[in-house]
Amino acid sequence: MFVDSHCHLDFPEFRERLPEVLANMKSSQVSHALCVSVDIPDFPRVLQLAQENANLYASVGVHPDYEDTPEPTVEFLVDTASKHAKIIAIGETGLDYYRMGDRSYESMEWQRDRFRVHIHAAIESKKPLIIHTRSASVDTIKIMKEEGADRVGGVMHCFTESYDVAKQAMDLGFYISFSGIVTFKTATELQETCKKIPLERMLIETDSPYLAPIPFRGKTNEPAWVSKVGEYIAQLKNLPINTLADCTTNNFFQCFQINRAIS
Ligand SMILES: [Zn+2]
Repeated sequence: MFVDSHCHLDFPEFRERLPEVLANMKSSQVSHALCVSVDIPDFPRVLQLAQENANLYASVGVHPDYEDTPEPTVEFLVDTASKHAKIIAIGETGLDYYRMGDRSYESMEWQRDRFRVHIHAAIESKKPLIIHTRSASVDTIKIMKEEGADRVGGVMHCFTESYDVAKQAMDLGFYISFSGIVTFKTATELQETCKKIPLERMLIETDSPYLAPIPFRGKTNEPAWVSKVGEYIAQLKNLPINTLADCTTNNFFQCFQINRAIS
């Protein structure tokens, strides 16, 4: 059985076809999926999905790419996370300088402040972090260290950075999660990095509806296709598919501190 450690089933792409998407998970041996929050206005829908479906979990947080959106406070995140058993993580949070364009470094301070708020909330609520980092790995690791993110750990989601960045995150107790990007023909550097990441520190995800793996590239991605990411990595690392599936699934439950007896 596989687990999709990161998806966005509340997005409009899935509104009309949730039963089909859940059935596809089942037939592809994908037992669970984590629905990740990106902003406060849409969070109730993320929570509702997790509350209505035993095999879906939720996180709470505001994505670094979302500007002009209500800013979360530590208190809001901690309160929300502690009120609902299906909320298993804080995020997604992190830094994304890719869309900074010609704005100054100083003008992105709001993103760094927001990231710090999420780390404080994770520590206070004792929940792991879901971290997004793009074109900002030096600051991401620096803030993780400054704010004590190693006290809760979590996952570097949709990982596309170097092995050196992965190593620093693993040293802080974080898992490294690979998406469909690793299956792309042009992703040769990422494939080399993936080979070096120990299986015990690895998760797999879809980030659906985005980033469909080969052979579905360009289509609307869905949690069922995390199996394609798993199959690809098993081949890349020369491992039996069952070993890859069991290990990444166990890692998921370990990372998010889920007691499988009650899940
Ligand atoms: Zn995401």
